[in-house]
Amino acid sequence: MAVLDVVKMGNPLLRKVSAPVGEELKTTLFQQTITDMVATMRFQNGAGIAAPQVGILKRAFTMEMVENPRYPDKNPFPLYIVINPEIEILDKTLVDSWEGCLSIPNIRGKLKRYKRILLKAIDHNGTFFQKELDGFAAIVAQHELDHLNGTLLIDRMDSMETLSFQEEYEKYWM
Ligand code: ZN
Repeated sequence: MAVLDVVKMGNPLLRKVSAPVGEELKTTLFQQTITDMVATMRFQNGAGIAAPQVGILKRAFTMEMVENPRYPDKNPFPLYIVINPEIEILDKTLVDSWEGCLSIPNIRGKLKRYKRILLKAIDHNGTFFQKELDGFAAIVAQHELDHLNGTLLIDRMDSMETLSFQEEYEKYWM
């Protein structure tokens, strides 16, 4: 298990469209990468991490919310290993979402996300699963899926007015 370096905004890798995971899923190397992504996400106190954020342009992300000091008001959800995901929107209602990103450290911005989605994917064993997600879990899944298409949270912001450093976010917007 290893904590990996997180690719930061400005690195062109974050703007690429990632390729589907194929036969390599079952390889020791890819399984190790998934384990390392989980370790990195937890080490960085992130709610999710996508493969491009560790420099791998493959359609995979992990997400998990335990009691987390970065998100004291967020509902916990279990660990999901998400490979080749698709998202179906179940409720087109848009909700305000203040988001941060491990690739854009110490920054927050407000954007809109769909309230409720159906996440369809395979797990690390290649087993299909689908899960209805609501609230914060739905937001994280949408954020991570964006990474697989080269989209960052700032691209989703209608206005840059709320783009804030963490300290100013806590001071003026929380
Ligand atoms: Zn991110």
